[in-house]
Amino acid sequence: MIYDVVVVGSGFSAIAVVCNLVRKLPPTASIAVIGDDPGFGRGTAYRTEMHLHRLNVPAARMSLFTDRPADFVEWLGRKNRPSRDADFASRSDYGLYVRDTLADLLRHQARCRVDFIRSKATGCVERYTGALGFLLEHGGEIAGRQVVLCLGLGNAKLPVDVTGLSLGTRSHVIDNPWRLSWLTRVGPQDSVCILGSGLTMIDQVLGLRSHGHRGHIDVLSRRGLAPHGHARDPKPPAIVEIDTKTATLSQILRGIRRQVRSGTPWRCVMDGLRPRTQAIWQGLAPAERSRFLRHALPWWNVHRHRVAPDIYDSFQRLRHQGVIAFHAGYLKTLTDAGERIDIEYRKRGSSKIDILNVDWIVNCTGMERAGLAHSPLLQEMRRQGFVAADPLGLGISVDRNSKALNSEGVVQTNLYAVGALTAGQFWEITAVPDIRTQAEQVATELAISNEARSQIL
Ligand SMILES: Cc1cc2nc3c(=O)[nH]c(=O)nc-3n(C[C@H](O)[C@H](O)[C@H](O)COP(=O)(O)OP(=O)(O)OC[C@H]3O[C@@H](n4cnc5c(N)ncnc54)[C@H](O)[C@@H]3O)c2cc1C
Repeated sequence: MIYDVVVVGSGFSAIAVVCNLVRKLPPTASIAVIGDDPGFGRGTAYRTEMHLHRLNVPAARMSLFTDRPADFVEWLGRKNRPSRDADFASRSDYGLYVRDTLADLLRHQARCRVDFIRSKATGCVERYTGALGFLLEHGGEIAGRQVVLCLGLGNAKLPVDVTGLSLGTRSHVIDNPWRLSWLTRVGPQDSVCILGSGLTMIDQVLGLRSHGHRGHIDVLSRRGLAPHGHARDPKPPAIVEIDTKTATLSQILRGIRRQVRSGTPWRCVMDGLRPRTQAIWQGLAPAERSRFLRHALPWWNVHRHRVAPDIYDSFQRLRHQGVIAFHAGYLKTLTDAGERIDIEYRKRGSSKIDILNVDWIVNCTGMERAGLAHSPLLQEMRRQGFVAADPLGLGISVDRNSKALNSEGVVQTNLYAVGALTAGQFWEITAVPDIRTQAEQVATELAISNEARSQIL
């Protein structure tokens, strides 16, 4: 059969699209969701079982639906986990909320057919009907008239070659920190070096401590910056005066600095920018966007992606106690050093080479720039011309309605993308408050074209 809509992916974006679709599509419609995650709806972010892995967005902003903003806070209340709007709930609870909400909608509101297919989509073919067929890992094919890609972003690869390391050492190099089982293999006094100093690094430090690790932790990143914390007593967002159509990157940065120097708390300025970030990004010329990524990204990340205040305090305590040491520099090589690993890096701002000698290395260099490289499906779709890489390497090219552009730059009317894959067009599209809006818009467009099609038939 050919489904009306095929959603590829099984994380938050996929489920947000499905939850909106089942509210909008008629009983005659059909949806297939293809995902390789053990639990539909959790994805990389909300799969963790560790209660100490917390959301970095307050509960009041984490509803799945823009028209029911209190939905998540109310769900927490129903589950006897009362939460104030400003609290930072656990990510495992959030994963349960997404799954619960989907199950509830399917039980009580869904009129159309929804099939969940546990598999990886490995390739894509165009059928003579114009439908797109997805080849499944273990055989078979699922075809849809309309398709939404919700593939998230894979983990960025280690920035150095590790093939020269012995097998024993290699097993102490953790490429993908989201397979949390590595934590059980670490000895309490083992030394660990974390590459990258963003939110994933903080999660890994918390994970190590909760597994009884008490050894030393080095953190190596290009600039040695760490995420800031949310305010305990947050103030309302500031009004940021930027002409989103004409401002250059330098003018924007000057304006922000001026506003902060004149006494507006920087967090209020960042929060004031948040609802306008997509428009500001879209107003920047391609060369300006590229300058932002080259020069401003690390500062943007640490101010924009903040952690819950108590998580920040625990982390800072470990830094002050000397348990965690930060190093700013560029990773050069990894070599065997007996049972341990030597990490050679060039210190930032100097030609001096330093060496860290550790038991474990964990790759937390991030996801934002992983582009298409992590996804064999996307690479295949690019080879066939169905999608094109975004010029900045942030994902795939889409128009402002999230429709994919093919290799000739033509908008595909039957192929959408939702989530971080569309960062080249929207930039601010990695977190729930932005993805849920995009998911709703895409579902609305799909429902309209489904309706138009059924009137023609
Ligand atoms: C650790 C972490 C914490 C975060 N915390 C927050 C937070 O507190 N608040 C917030 O708003 N945002 C947070 N985020 C941002 C988060 O990325 C989004 O909230 C959201 O979870 C993204 O979901 P997604 O579905 O787009 O991507 P993903 O969660 O990456 O899901 C993509 C899914 O697609 C599947 N897939 C990929 N390729 C295929 C294929 N070929 N075939 C089938 N399936 C495939 C993958 O297995 C995966 O399950 C966090 C992100 C991370 C990584």
